[in-house]
Amino acid sequence: MLTNGLPYLYKRAELAKRATFSYAAKKGKEGMKMDLQPLRPQEKKRAREFLTYNDIERARIVYGYLFEGQSTRRLDRTVLGLDPAVSRGYQSHNVLRYLGIAGVHKQACRGVSLDTVIDRLNGWGPDWMHVAYYLDVYRYAVQTSGQLFEGNVVDERMTEKRAVQIARIGQSHFRRALLQRDERCLLCEMEQRELLVASHMKPWRDANDWERLDIANGLLLCAGHDRAFDIGLITFEPSGQIVYSDALHDTTARLLHLHPRLHIPLTSDQRPYVEWHNEHVFQTY
Ligand SMILES: [Zn+2]
Repeated sequence: MLTNGLPYLYKRAELAKRATFSYAAKKGKEGMKMDLQPLRPQEKKRAREFLTYNDIERARIVYGYLFEGQSTRRLDRTVLGLDPAVSRGYQSHNVLRYLGIAGVHKQACRGVSLDTVIDRLNGWGPDWMHVAYYLDVYRYAVQTSGQLFEGNVVDERMTEKRAVQIARIGQSHFRRALLQRDERCLLCEMEQRELLVASHMKPWRDANDWERLDIANGLLLCAGHDRAFDIGLITFEPSGQIVYSDALHDTTARLLHLHPRLHIPLTSDQRPYVEWHNEHVFQTY
């Protein structure tokens, strides 16, 4: 709706602000203090290193750094199997920097339980969401590592099941972050959660590991509007203005409560995603 732009941008600023507060776990409950500095700006030029490794490797690097205070040289060896004399910790370092994790975060979570940290980070907005996701993957990997082997052989069914489960963990973090940001369908303001879908502009199957969980790639839409967007019957200009496909029937547009002047709030970091949708998903003749 035309009216929901302001609250949305406000909400975004508010979430960013909240993420800069350090958190001290209540004494007695945890018995330890956890101070988390704000994440540093994510260094997107580190994409090559970040994308070289898989979810579990990235998860082990994040955990080893935040909870165990392992040096990046050591992580290169223990997680990535590299010779630190040659790699100099560069690979782990860049994976961490891509997520915004820096020296000030080293062993910041030591002594706090993994469950508590994941739980806390979930409310801290989209940047921390990626960190929470990797810690969640780490927790899952540890829980299931005993089931991976059949005798001494890796059980292929288990690796497949694990991949599906990790994708689910990612989708649930992505959806939670979008529910926090948008709260309701961007087109009709429906707010019944069971009917809201975390929609991707660049679909999961085409997106890389970062893009799949990048909140800039997401729109919260109700089931009907998600479907119309997902199959390319509607799209948006980078300004957020709705565009109809010729394949969209007038009656359908009416039944979906669409009108040609609708626009949604889109920010500049969403532009590449919406352009991708326009080019590859939107139905044109
Ligand atoms: Zn809707």
